[in-house]
Amino acid sequence: MSVKLYAMTCGWLSADMNMFLAGQEGHIKVPIPAYLIEHPKGKVLFDSGMHPDIQTDPHGRIGELADAFVPDFEAGQEIKGRLESLNVDPDSIDFIINSHLHFDHTGGNELVPNAKVIIQKREWEAGHVPELMEANLFDPLDYDHGHQVQQVEGEFDLFGDGSVTTVPTYGHTPGHQALKVRLDSGDVILAADSCYLRRTLEEMMLPSIVAEPETMMESLRTLKKLKNAGARIFYGHDPEFWESVPQAPLEIT
Ligand SMILES: [Zn+2]
Repeated sequence: MSVKLYAMTCGWLSADMNMFLAGQEGHIKVPIPAYLIEHPKGKVLFDSGMHPDIQTDPHGRIGELADAFVPDFEAGQEIKGRLESLNVDPDSIDFIINSHLHFDHTGGNELVPNAKVIIQKREWEAGHVPELMEANLFDPLDYDHGHQVQQVEGEFDLFGDGSVTTVPTYGHTPGHQALKVRLDSGDVILAADSCYLRRTLEEMMLPSIVAEPETMMESLRTLKKLKNAGARIFYGHDPEFWESVPQAPLEIT
């Protein structure tokens, strides 16, 4: 079954490079990607970007995180605006596959009310244990909006035809997952925060934000194997890579 894949930029964040590659100096401004996948059996989002309150009151929404990650996020760049500009009604989205629970990946879930959320069980559980929420900077304001939630473990083939499959890539957070999308041109791996930058994979360098370093390194090895087998890796927050990605309404082919 063939699917259509579209990339959307839902704002930007500026931060110290060290956040993205531990020990490196300088600053970096990174895109906040979300993806729309159209399958004959349903419309899917992979991540939902940031909540629009960050456009007007970043500290009110994410507190001190707004000092470490300075938003450049304008009205219309939130997931709802992005979808509407493509003539896609946010209410018509059937599934949100969340890579993990951080604010720049689940903040837009609230704007997509009818979707079923697909998430790794260990991530969803971590999002409801106070110590783990604190340790992982999770805020239920981003993800607890009464969606139907399907907790999956490991690989999960959403439509049963191999076209959209979750790839467990734990480590950045307890239950992070990437997504494999099978295009006519081959497999694309939407890495999200299992691999922020091209350099992360080339140099096997972890970021400073990592829940389980050994596990994350293992996930990078998984990505490397997929890449060596011919898959295209879509890095989670790489501004240079992102320039090469066609933006919706253009389709990724
Ligand atoms: Zn992120």
